[in-house]
Amino acid sequence: MTPVTIIIAVVLLGGSLIFFRSNSKQYHASRAAHHEQRSAEREKRKAKASSPEANPDGKTSTPDTGELTRVGKWWLLNPKSPFPLHIKARDEFVARELKATLDDSYSIYSSEAVRMVMEVMLANSIVCKEVEEYVKIYKSKLLAKLESLSSDPHLFTGTTGRDTRKIRREIIEETISAFDIQPYCKISDLLLGHKDNAEEADQYFKKKYGRKTAAFYLSKPQGLYHIPIDDPEREAFENLTTLHLAAAGRKADPFKILEALDMDEIRGLVKDLNFSKFKDKAEAINAVEPLPDIKDRLSEVVKYKEIFEILPPPVDSLISETIGNSGKSPFDYEAAKLVTHTYQKGGEAITEREEFTRRENESVKGWKVIASKNCCQHCYELSRKRFRKEDYPKTPVHIGCRCSVSLVY
Ligand SMILES: [Zn+2]
Repeated sequence: MTPVTIIIAVVLLGGSLIFFRSNSKQYHASRAAHHEQRSAEREKRKAKASSPEANPDGKTSTPDTGELTRVGKWWLLNPKSPFPLHIKARDEFVARELKATLDDSYSIYSSEAVRMVMEVMLANSIVCKEVEEYVKIYKSKLLAKLESLSSDPHLFTGTTGRDTRKIRREIIEETISAFDIQPYCKISDLLLGHKDNAEEADQYFKKKYGRKTAAFYLSKPQGLYHIPIDDPEREAFENLTTLHLAAAGRKADPFKILEALDMDEIRGLVKDLNFSKFKDKAEAINAVEPLPDIKDRLSEVVKYKEIFEILPPPVDSLISETIGNSGKSPFDYEAAKLVTHTYQKGGEAITEREEFTRRENESVKGWKVIASKNCCQHCYELSRKRFRKEDYPKTPVHIGCRCSVSLVY
C-alpha cells in the first residue's frame, strides 16, 4: 500500500468507528456521564475564579444568547447574538460544554476565562468558523506581502541571524497594522501560529511550483550541493535557483560553505591576516565569516560555478524562524481569546439593545457605533455613520471587535 492508501484506509476506519460508537447507547451514556463530571468540575473552578469586579452586586447576569443550534456541519453557539459564532465539535456534549464555559466567562476574571475556554477548545479539537475565516483571508494577505519581498533569497534566510529576525518581525507588524480589520488579539501570533494541515501545505506547494519541481525540491535536504557542469541534475538545480528555492554560486551562504571546509582550509583562507590561533572550528568560522571579502577569499578554495544551496521554502522558513521552534502554538490562546471576547461582546450587545428599547422615546433619532479606541479602520469609518431608528447597528462588527452602540438624540 502507498502511504496515501494507508491514510485513506485509516481515515475510513476511524470514521466508521466513530460513527458506530456515536450510535451506540452505551457510548451516549458514557459521554453524558463524562459531561456531567466536567460540568461539576467547571462549577468548582468558576467559584474559585469568580471576579467581584466583573460581578459587583453579586447577581449573576448572563445574557441570553439563545439555544445551541445545529447548522449544517457546524454548531451555532449564540443564535441571538448580532455576531454568530459557529464551531466544529465532535458531538453535542462538547458544543454544550464550550457554550457553558463561555456563559461562565461573564462572571470570572477575563484571563482565567480565556484559559478555560482554550482548555475546552484544545481538549476537544474545536475549531471556530469565524476565526478560521479571518485567518484564511488575512494570513494569505500577509504571506503574499512576505513573498513579494522574498525575491532576494538571503533577505530572510540570511547570514546575520538576529538582525534578519528583527527585520522579519518589523515587516510582519507593519503589514498587520495596515489591515482594515483588526481583531482584539495578538494578530501576528494568530496568523503565524495557525497551522495549515499537511495536505493543504502539500497542495499549495505543488500548485505553486508544479508537481515535478516540488518533488525534486522535496527530495533534497536543505544545505550545500556540489553539482559539476555536466551533472544530470544541473538543470533541475538551475530551475530551483530561478524559483528562489536554491541559491547558486556566490549567493550561497558563506557560513555553510565554511562549515563544509576543514580547519586547515579555513586557516589557509586568512593566512595573510593576523588571527591568533583558533580554539576550534566554530570559533574560526565566527571570526572569518564577517570579513567583507569573505566571498572572494572562498573563491580560492571552492568552484562557485559548481555550488548550489537548497534553501528553505521562503515563507515557511520565515514563519518558523519568526515564532521560534518552541513547539507550542501561540495560535490556540489567541483563538480562544477571540471566541471568548466575541461571545461576551455579542451577549452584552443583546442586553444593551434591551436597555435602549426600554429607554426609547421620540427624542431618540437613531444610533451610532462607538468605535473602541483600539479597534480598526473599518470600525472607525462605521462610527462616522448615523443609523436610522429602525436600522439598529450590529456589534460586534467582526471577530474580536470591541465596539458598541450608542443613542443619537
Ligand atoms: Zn470594531
